[in-house]
Amino acid sequence: MDGTEYRIKRTWMLRMSHGEDLLAEAGKIALHKGISMAVFSIIGAVSCASFGYYDQKERRYAKISRDGDYEIISCYGNVSLKEDRPMAHAHILFGDEEGSTFGGHLMSPTRIFAAELFLQELDGLQLIRKHDNTTGLFLWE
Ligand code: ZN
Repeated sequence: MDGTEYRIKRTWMLRMSHGEDLLAEAGKIALHKGISMAVFSIIGAVSCASFGYYDQKERRYAKISRDGDYEIISCYGNVSLKEDRPMAHAHILFGDEEGSTFGGHLMSPTRIFAAELFLQELDGLQLIRKHDNTTGLFLWE
């Protein structure tokens, strides 16, 4: 894989809306700002957590949801196009009141208590997600 070189266009630091869904809000921000390619990170706290583990044999996500208040210790993701719409894909690590961590592929519902987004729009060859027969996932072409 040679990869493609990208340049950073615009950069945002913004507070995400209390009570909104974390993944949906990331996608909404990209859509409203006209972003089709970006990398982002988020720190903050949530009042419920949902994440997935991809079962490679079954080719589907097992979804895990936990009610409760958790820290977003780390969340890293990207934005690219899937079916002509910006799609946010992120992985997240949560922390609980005992300092234990858990996480995976970010899913909904994950309710924002408070969250700070750092997002960098990228300039270069557009990344488009298409279904990949080898993995069953929507991967970059
Ligand atoms: Zn994932």
